[in-house]
Formats: sequence, structure tokens, C-alpha cells
Amino acid sequence: MNLPNANDKNRKQKETLKYCKEPGCGKEYLGHPVTKYCETHRLLKNRVRKKVIYKDIGIDNIIFKHTFTQSTDIVMSCKICNRDYAVTIIPKQQIYPKYCKEHRNEYKREQYKK
Ligand SMILES: [Zn+2]
Ligand SMILES: [Zn+2]
Repeated sequence: MNLPNANDKNRKQKETLKYCKEPGCGKEYLGHPVTKYCETHRLLKNRVRKKVIYKDIGIDNIIFKHTFTQSTDIVMSCKICNRDYAVTIIPKQQIYPKYCKEHRNEYKREQYKK
């Protein structure tokens, strides 16, 4: 049986003039329409990867697991000065500030410890 479309996938795509998408490169090259990078930057090791800085959420926040289905104000106490502060608990959100308003500021926390 003949499958007329079987070869369509293998049909050679035309190479077109493209510009490398690597920041700072922009080199012209001939490539298939789906390519994004010049020959050099097609290799992953030559690409500048965006650095993602993950700040530890535990530094300023606590994970508060709850089952509230409505926004609810609760009172927590600051880990630095023990003062109470109000926190609005939001459904499905589990990350909340660990300190009172005053001590959410890292600098002020340092001051307090001295
Ligand atoms: Zn390039
Ligand atoms: Zn405090």
C-alpha cells in the first residue's frame, strides 16, 4: 500500500538567513526556520544561561499550612521581639512574614540582636 504523505516529514526544509538569539551575538547564519542560534551557540555549553537566584524563603517567611477557605486575620508573634503582629491568611497561600513589620527589615533585625 502506498502512503503518499509518508515522506513529507523528511522533506528538507529550506535554510534561511537567521540571526542568533544569544544575547550579545546576533550573528547571521543559515539555518532552518526552527533554529534560534548560530552554530556556536547551538551548543548548550556556549550559551550564557540565565542565573536564577533562589532566595531562601525561610529567611523572611514562614510556611504556614492551613485550611482556611476565606481570608482570615490571625496574630503571630515576631521571632525577634516577640511582639504580636497581624497576618492576613489567604486561602491556598502558605508563605507569610516571619517577623513584625519592624523586623521584616533585615537591617533592623541585625540592630536588635546587638
Ligand atoms: Zn551566536
Ligand atoms: Zn519584631
